[in-house]
Amino acid sequence: MDGNFDGQNPAKPHFVVVPLMAQGHMIPMADLALLLAGRGARVSLITTPVNAVRLRAAADLAAASGLSLRLVELPLPCAAAGLPDGCENVDLIPKPDLFHPFFRSLNLLADPLKSYLRAQPPAPTCIISDQCMPWTMEVAGELGIRRLVFHGPSCFFLLCTLNLTKHNLYEKVADDLESFFVPELPQRIEWCVDDFRRKVGKEVWPVGPVSLFHKDAGGKAVRGNGISGVDGGGGGVGGVLTWLEGREKESVLFVSFGSLARTRIKQLIEIGWGLEAAGTCFVWAVKEAEQSEEVDTWLSKFEQRSGGRGLIIKGWVPQVLILAAPAVGGFMTHCGWNSTLEAVTAGVPMVTWPHFADQFLNSKLVVEVLGIGVGVGVNLPSFYQAAEGAAMVGRDEVERAVVSVMDGGEEGEEMRRRAKELGKKARMAMEKGGSSYESLTRLIDDAMALPLAQ
Ligand code: UDP
Repeated sequence: MDGNFDGQNPAKPHFVVVPLMAQGHMIPMADLALLLAGRGARVSLITTPVNAVRLRAAADLAAASGLSLRLVELPLPCAAAGLPDGCENVDLIPKPDLFHPFFRSLNLLADPLKSYLRAQPPAPTCIISDQCMPWTMEVAGELGIRRLVFHGPSCFFLLCTLNLTKHNLYEKVADDLESFFVPELPQRIEWCVDDFRRKVGKEVWPVGPVSLFHKDAGGKAVRGNGISGVDGGGGGVGGVLTWLEGREKESVLFVSFGSLARTRIKQLIEIGWGLEAAGTCFVWAVKEAEQSEEVDTWLSKFEQRSGGRGLIIKGWVPQVLILAAPAVGGFMTHCGWNSTLEAVTAGVPMVTWPHFADQFLNSKLVVEVLGIGVGVGVNLPSFYQAAEGAAMVGRDEVERAVVSVMDGGEEGEEMRRRAKELGKKARMAMEKGGSSYESLTRLIDDAMALPLAQ
């Protein structure tokens, strides 16, 4: 897919963007690729055939806007890696014991990537590869191409983990549940970026929220998955929006836990009862992988009981579009960093329900530092799929947290005010002259001036 790719023009920098194939990584890196192309750079966005289908919308958007972005499909030999055919994305891994084979299989992209890079005259300016793609370091070294690392999570999370490693905290705690203070955190968290830059001893370019590349509804609607759209009860993307248009301003809670975390039926039921008791309007995204006959039966009875107060959407939802709807007044989120930033950008307060990885620290940042959310009360991680057995969060906790954000009381309104203020700052950061806009300008200039990789 070539669009307007201006392959031979040496006057323009050429970035080769290599995302990990997981929605929480591919989506922001595709946005970054669009942002770079929007600044006049040529961009090769590297992916595999199955993921190319999801990224096609980004490539089409670039082509329609006259941007120089090329989608490059490299073959991933799944069978050779012991994976089922087409298992090319973290959300397509059918069972936990295939995680390791999947991550090992990524190394098999090195040779096809080298062939692609060698065929580019002149040599690309710089590779920007995901932190989870360490094999790209050897590729860049062998071909003498500069390489920058894309970190999806926040500098706050990166700084905390750096400090934990430095102080050997992982060795010192007795078990997973022991709480401890993160050493060497600055008093004022807003200095995190500088502190991280100083501690890591490298340049850092904060360039987000990258979702703000998308100015119109069309781009927002197809972001991350141009093909599946919304059905099941919603009547297409338009159906959800029409439903939201009929609701009062800031009266709807949006419930969604990102692209990977899966909720088991017992937990789904507790969420349902909690929403019902809270009495709020809601849009609730239930993943395809969470569906079963039992789930469907329970949800359809629940939908009938809620009498039009809520909408359950099955499958992929246009999250950024939903968050931007004036009717949406709260977001129950797993606190993936993209989702967190997207809520901040929309000025929407959160009910935080972290599941794994950086999500617990993101939740702390939202609740304790920024004061734009309420925790639902999760203390234990549930990686990818919560363990069988009892629900981790009961209906009463769900109700309590939802009510405190959505009931129009002082606590919730204060959070909303702060969330809106932050949203304004986030949008300003991406405007010409804003901090992220200027950071991206520096990144492009610096990438052209860096010494070549060895
Ligand atoms: N997302 C979406 N629709 C969905 C689920 C997820 O648009 O139905 C997007 C969401 O807007 C975000 C990304 O997928 O950009 C998820 O990334 P995040 O870091 O929030 O969580 P992860 O999926 O990596 O756990």
